Amino acid sequence: MNILIASSEVVPFAKTGGLADVCGALPIELERLGHRPFVFMPGFRSVYTAGQPVEPLGVEFNIPIGSKISKGSLAKSVLPGSEVEVFIVQQPEYFERAELYREAGEDYPDNCERFVFFCRAVMESIRFLDLQVDVLHGNDWQAGLLAAYLALEYRRIPGFEKIASLLTIHNLAYQGNFSHWDMALTGLDWKHFNWQQMEFYGRLNLLKTGLVFADALNTVSPSYATEIQSSDLGCGLEGVLRHRAKDLSGIINGVDYDIWNPESDSRIAKNYDVTSWKEGKSECKKSLQKAMNLPESDGPLVGLVGRLASQKGWHLIIEVMKTLVSRFDMQWTILGTGEPEYHRALKELAEAFPDKVGIELGFSDDLAHQIEAGSDIFLMPSQYEPCGLNQLYSLKYGTVPVVHATGGLADTIINLDQESQLQKTATGFSFYEYHADALLAALRRATDVYSHNPDLWQQIVTNGMQQDWSWSQSARAYISLYERLIDRKASASVDQCSDE
Ligand code: ADP
Repeated sequence: MNILIASSEVVPFAKTGGLADVCGALPIELERLGHRPFVFMPGFRSVYTAGQPVEPLGVEFNIPIGSKISKGSLAKSVLPGSEVEVFIVQQPEYFERAELYREAGEDYPDNCERFVFFCRAVMESIRFLDLQVDVLHGNDWQAGLLAAYLALEYRRIPGFEKIASLLTIHNLAYQGNFSHWDMALTGLDWKHFNWQQMEFYGRLNLLKTGLVFADALNTVSPSYATEIQSSDLGCGLEGVLRHRAKDLSGIINGVDYDIWNPESDSRIAKNYDVTSWKEGKSECKKSLQKAMNLPESDGPLVGLVGRLASQKGWHLIIEVMKTLVSRFDMQWTILGTGEPEYHRALKELAEAFPDKVGIELGFSDDLAHQIEAGSDIFLMPSQYEPCGLNQLYSLKYGTVPVVHATGGLADTIINLDQESQLQKTATGFSFYEYHADALLAALRRATDVYSHNPDLWQQIVTNGMQQDWSWSQSARAYISLYERLIDRKASASVDQCSDE
């Protein structure tokens, strides 16, 4: 199968979150399994400093954006350790900026225009490069228009008739919601600006557009696929999703163990595996404490890595830290960047308790690995979590996750309760009500076991380390989804022919 994967983020070229990890790893696994994936992404500034060679292809295109024409070109790279081609859509004015989507807390005002350009450029590239595509796999709102362009414009062009489209939702809360005037930029007929297609309460919504026009939809965990059909987590799109329920599924993300593995991770102080985790972790913990200017201490070290966005539960975390930090022998290491209010609150805590709280308010791949390896407990009290990757990394690094049982966190962490203790299957601690008291109770349960029941702690750690969340399983699930889609498309076109 030939699969075109379009994403605004791809590791190692550009990343703000899990979307990048997925779109950097899934194609490599698809290739390993005998398929031909190729990736399309925008030529952001970070693409050129990612350490992979980028070669111009000499392909230039003129893309209509409303009443003007924007010029762009294509370059090519490959995903490290593979032959997967990465096509880079270049347009320096749109893409070579300090950040990917926003600066100083404000979205770039021309985000709609930038991703209209990206999606049209992808469609045009299929023609220019004469790519044989079986599945057009878009990711998130930035690629939402692809399915609409395919269905409304390109389908009639020879070569495009049988392409099946899939849209993966990595986070429903980010929708690409723009002024209705931006509809003109898309070049699509205004008749599609209606509540059943591209309009969302008077605005243009690019994620909804993808949800309506793609042949199939998936998201990154089975629980999240169900949750987003409810008004609680549907972000206003629950109606569309319920309407498309039979075309919507959930596939848990995998982990790239070439990057996230304590046995081979070159960014951590000492490598370790399931037999040597105690010694390894103890070295990594000391080195992390040093890096974060914390004194050595035997109490549990709690790690957090993530966007400082309300989704990730920072309100609860800060409340719980305020309760625990002065009273208990535990330390915190936090890496993240995002909303200014959380930057402020975390800085205050770190200043007030320099021996207990170490923070780094920025983005650092190295430190993310060091926190995974050096912490004893990893906290993910997300209000909602489509899949979550850090809890999966934590399992591998023997860092026991404490999570809110939602979305992918509910699907991947086995809470320590009576039953799992009896069956010796627990991998972490979950809480069920999204409330600071519930988080506090879960964290206290975890620290109690850590301090007073080392055998049980050892069992939870090793259960997690022995699990396999590698991409091979998830990639196979994607392959069967692609195959079902292609079959459906083929039989639909046979039906169409026999109708004619
Ligand atoms: P989301 O996609 O919602 O941000 P995920 O858990 O799916 O959450 O993926 C987050 C990814 O981004 C992980 O690989 C995590 O390590 C990484 N990450 C998030 N914030 C930072 C940061 N400040 N520095 C380094 N890595 C980060």
